[in-house]
Amino acid sequence: MIRLENVSKVYPTSARPALDDVSVEVERGEFAFLIGPSGSGKSTLLRLLIREDVPSSGTVWVANWNVGGLAGRRVPRLRQRMGCVFQDFRLLPNKTVAENVAFALEVIGKPRHTIRTVVPEVLDLVNLAGKADRMPSELSGGEAQRVAIARAFVNRPLVLLADEPTGNLDPETSAGIMTLLERINRTGTTVVMATHDRQIVDSMRRRVVELSAGRLARDDNRGVYGVAR
Ligand code: ADP
Ligand code: ADP
Repeated sequence: MIRLENVSKVYPTSARPALDDVSVEVERGEFAFLIGPSGSGKSTLLRLLIREDVPSSGTVWVANWNVGGLAGRRVPRLRQRMGCVFQDFRLLPNKTVAENVAFALEVIGKPRHTIRTVVPEVLDLVNLAGKADRMPSELSGGEAQRVAIARAFVNRPLVLLADEPTGNLDPETSAGIMTLLERINRTGTTVVMATHDRQIVDSMRRRVVELSAGRLARDDNRGVYGVAR
């Protein structure tokens, strides 16, 4: 589903490459953690997957797309098949919970009758059916993240990318978010999650891909976070 072949990314302003000859493959339906210290290249890797940036060399494949080589007009099609979740939720503050989720479908031109049935279904999936008409400012952090996940998942993406989705949440709330991501993964969606959360990585024993200074440092099938550093 995702394949990086000898991918390097060099930002003109930085001394060393943000990614340095990284090759890694994530199969359809896998759940993979992306770990590594700050500055190791995790966000850069995620940005290359959604074509927010292009590699300096090497090839990034998502499904059958050569992402870096994609013509600009084809990028929206790629992004429609990928959902993104961030540490800071990024909800639209002036829309309700339901409107935030509906908006993801409106921008890709889904008909109104589809939106009317699909939005309540996905809010149900994230246990927020009762909060459809709340504003984001009225939600706890855990609830806001569940809305963000509903929005990322409502279009049934092939891949869900999560960049530190539990970074602002307490351990109990984080565990609920992980339960939800596992549920989404079980529907067949490939999940890649960048995280610093040792407790979560150690409790889930999933694929662990570790970056260190832009290089692939470790790739374990049922990994743990690793030694304290
Ligand atoms: P992580 O997500 O693991 O913290 P990043 O991918 O954000 O790592 O950063 C990897 C390296 O690339 C760091 O040295 C960072 O300073 C550098 N970097 C990231 N984005 C940019 C950018 N837009 N311009 C220049 N350097 C960048
Ligand atoms: P958590 O324990 O997950 O951090 P909170 O204590 O922040 O949750 O919130 C508990 C409940 O109160 C949540 O269901 C949330 O929807 C509601 N709530 C939190 N802040 C507000 C607010 N500013 N206005 C209305 N409801 C709120």
